Amino acid sequence: MRIFNKITDIKAEIKKIKSSGRSVGLVPTMGFLHEGHMSLVRESVKNNDVTVVSIFVNPTQFGPTEDLAAYPRDFESDCALLEKNNADIIFYPEPSEMYGEGFCTKVELSGITEVLCGITRPVHFAGVATVVTKLFNIVNPDRAYFGSKDYQQLQVIKRMIKDLNMDVDVVGMPIIRENDGLALSSRNVYLKGDERTSALALSGSFKLVENLLREGVEDTKTIKEKVADFILSHPHTRIDYIETVHPETLVSVDSADTDFVMALAVYVGKARLIDNRYFEVHHV
Ligand code: AMP
Repeated sequence: MRIFNKITDIKAEIKKIKSSGRSVGLVPTMGFLHEGHMSLVRESVKNNDVTVVSIFVNPTQFGPTEDLAAYPRDFESDCALLEKNNADIIFYPEPSEMYGEGFCTKVELSGITEVLCGITRPVHFAGVATVVTKLFNIVNPDRAYFGSKDYQQLQVIKRMIKDLNMDVDVVGMPIIRENDGLALSSRNVYLKGDERTSALALSGSFKLVENLLREGVEDTKTIKEKVADFILSHPHTRIDYIETVHPETLVSVDSADTDFVMALAVYVGKARLIDNRYFEVHHV
């Protein structure tokens, strides 16, 4: 496994790989890696000759009051996990390497980035789209792997690739959870004491929705109200949003008579957790 910090160095290496006809898979991450990230890495290793994992806590996707400085980091343990899972290359640039002097370009999508997380995190998706575009240009991957844990991010990337005719196949991967249902997240380390139990309110909500749909409840307003009551019955919780949206456009849906995604963002103590589930309505 090789580690690159400089864009020119990794680009030269990728050029060699590509000219020998080998395929490249990219897994973009912010580090503090866990089994959720590893599921992406293993899928890439299986389907590509070379797997590149980027580790970059991207400053431009954090708002001024968000947790950029506190975001957990552990490069040594990340390297050990990646080695064990057969990643080939780590791209680990400094922010100054990614955003050199005079940097002033932004990739911005409208609509799809203005709902869900885009409401309380207005600069987030432009930061994501810009850094992912840069990573695509640097690594030139055949395939790029993203988790559906960040459901909106996955749809934004798919839309951007389509709109800008980028030559990358996006592979969306399922959410990896703890045995009790909590979606794995680097931010779970923020959960203290009984906040860990309260965090189960998110995945528990989906069971509740399943039951409501089975009972024939279709009005998503009622569904969302019941989910809100359920979440708020857990201590330390504060709701950012509870939404039922169209799986691709992320436009809000009023009636659960067609497939939809329930997306949640909930503060549990200081941790802002997100989770979602795709409901295939006629197969619940
Ligand atoms: P992050 O380091 O949080 O930016 O995540 C990097 C990638 O890993 C993103 O595509 C995430 O969606 C994905 N990821 C994070 N947590 C999980 C999880 N629990 N299951 C599947 N993928 C995940």
